Amino acid sequence: MINEIFFGEKKDKIYSALKNVLENVPYYRENWGFKLPPIEKFDYSFFQQFVPILEKDEVRTHNDQFISTRYDKNELTFDVTSGTTGNPLLCYKSKKERLKRANELWKQRRMFVPDLSVYDRFARFYAYRMNEEYLITNKVLHRGNELHIPLFDYSEDRIEEYLSEISQFHPRWMHGPSTAIFNLAKHAKSKKIDLKIELIELNGEFVTDIQQSLIKEVFQCKVANHYGSREFWAMAYSCEEGHLHVLDESLFIESIYNESLQDYELVVTSLSNDAWPLIRYKIGDVGTIEKISCNSHSSSYVLHLKKGRIADYFTLAGNKYINAITFSGIIRGLSNIKGSLVVYQYQVLKVAENELIIKLCMNKENAENIKSFIVRLGTEIRKIIGNEIILHFKIVDSIQPDPKTGKCRDFVDLTKKGVEYERALLE
Ligand SMILES: [Zn+2]
Repeated sequence: MINEIFFGEKKDKIYSALKNVLENVPYYRENWGFKLPPIEKFDYSFFQQFVPILEKDEVRTHNDQFISTRYDKNELTFDVTSGTTGNPLLCYKSKKERLKRANELWKQRRMFVPDLSVYDRFARFYAYRMNEEYLITNKVLHRGNELHIPLFDYSEDRIEEYLSEISQFHPRWMHGPSTAIFNLAKHAKSKKIDLKIELIELNGEFVTDIQQSLIKEVFQCKVANHYGSREFWAMAYSCEEGHLHVLDESLFIESIYNESLQDYELVVTSLSNDAWPLIRYKIGDVGTIEKISCNSHSSSYVLHLKKGRIADYFTLAGNKYINAITFSGIIRGLSNIKGSLVVYQYQVLKVAENELIIKLCMNKENAENIKSFIVRLGTEIRKIIGNEIILHFKIVDSIQPDPKTGKCRDFVDLTKKGVEYERALLE
C-alpha cells in the first residue's frame, strides 16, 4: 500500500526514468520484455508486474551495460563497492549527478547547522591512503580544511592522539562510521576530555540508540544519521527528531516482502542518475517505509531500517537457521540494568557449526553486574540455539571494524570461505 502511494507521487519521474533506460541503456533495452504504456495507463500494478527487481550480482556481471549510450564512459567517475565475492561493482556518476546529489546532502546538513559550509573545517575517517611509495593507515593527516583520522587502530594511546589532534584542529563538524566515533566518545568520556563539535554525521553502518546518545553527550553536538551507499550516495537523512527521511527528490524506494526471509527488503530506483541508472535495485537492507509529517517535513517518507543485513542469517548444528538480529534483541533487552548500560558493543563469531564466541565490550563501571549479565545472556541465547551449541564469552576493550568496509559487523561466520581477515578477529 505504501509503495503504491509513494509511486503515485513520483509517477512522472519514474516514467521518465523508465523511458530513458528503454531508449538509452543497453542492459534494459536487451533484457526488458515490455513496452511502456501511455502515462495514463502507467500505474503501480504495471510497474510491479513488469519491471524486474535487479540483483547486485546481475549489475556486477553486466556493469558497463548499465551505462547510458548518451554518455561517454570516460567522462563519468565511479565509486567502487567492496562486495564479498567476485569482481567489485563500479558505480558510475556524471558530473551533473554528483553536483545534484551533493547539493541535496548539504541541504540536509544545513537543517542541523544552517550556516555550515563546504569550506568549514571538518574531521573524517580513512582506511588507507597511498603515498608515492607506501600505504598509510595509521597517521592523522591534514588536508586543507579536512582532518583525516585512521579507521582501524583504536588502542588507547592512539585514541588519545586522535582526540588531541581533533581538539587542536577544532572542526565544526565530523562524519564517519558510528563505531569509530563511538570509540572516540567512550574514551573522551572516561578521560573527561572536553570537546565540542557542532554536528556529527554518522554513516556507514547501523547506529544503536546507546551509541548515539553517548556521542551526543560527549561531544555536546547534534547527531545526524546518513543512510547511503556507493550506488546511490545519500538515500535517506535524519531530521532533528530522528526520523530517517528518504531523499525523494532523487530516489523512489519500495519495501517488498520476501517470503524466504520473512521480512521486508528495500528496493531502490534512482530518479536522477541518467548516466548509470539502477531501476528496482535490491540494496541489501531490510526495512519498512512509512509516510509521516513532522516539524521539519510536512509530508515525507521515512525508513525504519532493521539492524542485520540479509547475509546475517546463519545455520547452526541441529538444522537451525537463525537471524543474527536475535543477538541484538537479547543483548539490548538485557543490557539495561538498573538504568545503566552494561554492554556498549558486541560481536558474535561462528567458529564451527556447533560453536559460537560472543565478544562483549562492556561498561566497566558496572563490574559487579558483568558476571550476572553473562549468566542471563547465556540462558536467553540457549532458549533459541538450544543446549548442544558450545558458547564462549569473551570480554574485550574494543571491536575492530572490517578493513574492507569500515563496518563493524555484529555477526561473522568464520566457517565460510574467504574470511581470512575475519579469522584475525579471533586473536
Ligand atoms: Zn522528521
